[in-house]
Amino acid sequence: MDLMYHSTRNNSIKVTASQAILQGLSPDGGLFVPESIPRLTTPIADLAKMNYLELAYEVLKLYLTDYTEEEIKECISKAYDDKFDTPDIAPLNKVGELYYLELFHGATIAFKDMALSILPHLLTTAARKNKISDEIVILTATSGDTGKAALAGFADVEGTKIIVFYPKDGVSSVQEKQMVTQKGDNTYVIGIRGNFDDAQTGVKKIFGDRDLEERMSKAGYRFSSANSINIGRLLPQIVYYIYSYVELYRRNEILAGEKIKFVVPTGNFGNILAAYYAKQMGLPVEKLICASNDNKVLYDFFQTGIYDRNREFILTISPSMDILVSSNLERLIYHIAGEDPDKTLELMNALTSTGRYEISFDMRKKLDCFIGGYATVDETMSAIHRVYTDSGYVLDTHTAVAASVYSKYLNNKKDRSTSVIVSTASPYKFAESVLGAIGVKNLPEDDYEQAILLREISGIEIPSAMEEIHLADIRHNTVCETGRMRAKVEEILKII
Ligand SMILES: *Cc1c(COP(=O)(O)O)cnc(C)c1O
Repeated sequence: MDLMYHSTRNNSIKVTASQAILQGLSPDGGLFVPESIPRLTTPIADLAKMNYLELAYEVLKLYLTDYTEEEIKECISKAYDDKFDTPDIAPLNKVGELYYLELFHGATIAFKDMALSILPHLLTTAARKNKISDEIVILTATSGDTGKAALAGFADVEGTKIIVFYPKDGVSSVQEKQMVTQKGDNTYVIGIRGNFDDAQTGVKKIFGDRDLEERMSKAGYRFSSANSINIGRLLPQIVYYIYSYVELYRRNEILAGEKIKFVVPTGNFGNILAAYYAKQMGLPVEKLICASNDNKVLYDFFQTGIYDRNREFILTISPSMDILVSSNLERLIYHIAGEDPDKTLELMNALTSTGRYEISFDMRKKLDCFIGGYATVDETMSAIHRVYTDSGYVLDTHTAVAASVYSKYLNNKKDRSTSVIVSTASPYKFAESVLGAIGVKNLPEDDYEQAILLREISGIEIPSAMEEIHLADIRHNTVCETGRMRAKVEEILKII
């Protein structure tokens, strides 16, 4: 029997894993969720014999039940190859008493590579399985890192086109350069005059446009999503939580069954939701610490049970977390509502119409494995400075939000159980802010010169992703108003 997926807003919409991945978003606007979360029953002593790829198979086979063993294994081996600069794929680095799970060793030096290097393969396999001959158009809104990772994953993948919208003034200079220099005849990159939420809302609107869908279909196209609303993004992210646990066990840092904590720098709630799924599968997790920056909607939510996006959008030095509407929270809401699609729909409708909703007391009780925290820009910079001064280890601005939140948490508690800080980007991606936080004066303006300086300070080689953009030509320079996003898509696909 296949594990089926249904919409968070309607239990009668039921599809297989490959269909859920193909569609991206459910037609009713809901997100696909597995009808039950499978248990990981393989003993840890057996998991401990596996490398990252083998472990990925062990996890993904539980979810992708309509894929064959061969198909899953092929997707995995095409994804986690020498695009990563270490065979560990997700190295766990001990610095002082803390562990940093480094998820930035892929092609675009941020954690989005963990899922986006496999998603194109899962998706093209899904199309083949479901006998879809339409060209798949990946439509993506990005706060900076998803865009590049998706572009890199889908560039020149046969049968696909990829269109990325990013906030023109809301990404770092390296992030922008990475996107606008993207090669591949099937890639399109567009800056919008708005923030990430505008981009995400615009993309969701295009997905929900039935008239456009019909015209697309006539022209031989169908949309899918590379955003973390696609369940195919979420599932591969579960793997590294289990991997890091197994790695701690392998190093004799924990006993089998011992509970650990994860601290996750959070924006759209995708990464930490994968940790929650890992926990629901049986991974011994004590707490999930959800770290936000100044856009602390999630912190307030965990404090009060009220989600309220009616506030100023703040641009910070951790742009990939500058988000007020965390899409993946809808999946958590669905689970804590007892898998109740009507309740979920009611809350999501409230969010759309009033920008706010409040969950019930019973739902709040089910959130007790989560702790919300946040760090201001100043606190984030201090964390980079402190960790560098203490250990020589250089954090990027997102990981530093998590590090800061964790140290504030420790101040309040005497809890010393094993903790893993989920490290989401290479410091090279945000070199200017990182060097500034460390206290380097007279920073050069040029990204590459900053990278050279960072190499001297950190002793870590400049990643090839930085070398690539250094001399690359700009290939994309379109900018549009948020109201023109659909028109841009129609223009690119030449549909009227
Ligand atoms: C996307 C991103 C985040 C936030 O992850 P979510 O899954 O959106 O919560 C954090 N840090 C970096 C570097 C990112 O690229």
